[in-house]
Amino acid sequence: MNGRVIAIDGPAGAGKSSVARAVAERLGWSFLDTGAMYRAVTFFALDHGIDLSDDESLEKVAVGLSISITERVVINGRDVTAEIRTPEVNSKVSSVAACSAIRRALVEQQRIFASEQAHGTVVEGRDITTVVFPDAEVKVFLTASLEERAKRRGDESAASVAARDEADASRVDSPLSVGEGVTILDTTNMPLDQVVDEVVACLRK
Ligand code: C5P
Repeated sequence: MNGRVIAIDGPAGAGKSSVARAVAERLGWSFLDTGAMYRAVTFFALDHGIDLSDDESLEKVAVGLSISITERVVINGRDVTAEIRTPEVNSKVSSVAACSAIRRALVEQQRIFASEQAHGTVVEGRDITTVVFPDAEVKVFLTASLEERAKRRGDESAASVAARDEADASRVDSPLSVGEGVTILDTTNMPLDQVVDEVVACLRK
C-alpha cells in the first residue's frame, strides 16, 4: 500500500533523525528529514542575499526551489548537505520556518514525497503529527532533557538549541506541540535501539 506514514516530532536534538532513519531501515521504508528542507530554503535565501523578513521574496524562493532529500541534500542541482548545518543556518532557520508561504510549499512537497514511496515513509520534523500527517498510523513525540539534546547535537550550543525550540514552539503557524493521539517518548536515558523498538512496537499495536 502506498502512503503509509510514521510521523515523529520533537524539539531539536531529541534524536528524531537517528530514530527515524533506523526505523525506516528496519521496516524497509523511506525516511524524510523535513528539517533539512527548511534548512535548504534558509541556506538558499542567505546565499542569494534575500531579506529573511520579506515573506514575498521567501515565497518565491520556496515555490521555485527544487529540493531533493536522500542521503544528500541537493537544491537546484547543488549539493548543500554540509552547508545547511552551519551556525548561521542554525540561527536563521526558525525565522524562515515561521513564514506560512514557505510552510505551505514544503508541506505540499512532503505529502507528495510520502505518497510516491513504494512501502511507507518515516517522516520527522516539528509539525508532522499535527499538520502534515495528523492521520499517520503512528504518531510519536520524542523528547529529552536540554542537556542531553545539546550533547547529541554536538556542533550546536545548548543556547542555540533552546532558542530554536522557543521560536519553534511559539510561532503562530504550525508550532511545535504535542498533538492528539501522540505517544510521548522521553529518550534521555534510552539507547537508540530501545527507542526504535518502541516506535516499531507502536505500528504493531
Ligand atoms: O530538525 P532540524 O533541527 O534540522 O530542523 C531545523 C529547523 O527547521 C527547526 O528548528 C524548525 O525551525 C524547522 N522545522 C519546522 N518544521 C519541520 C521541521 C523543521 O519548522 N517539520
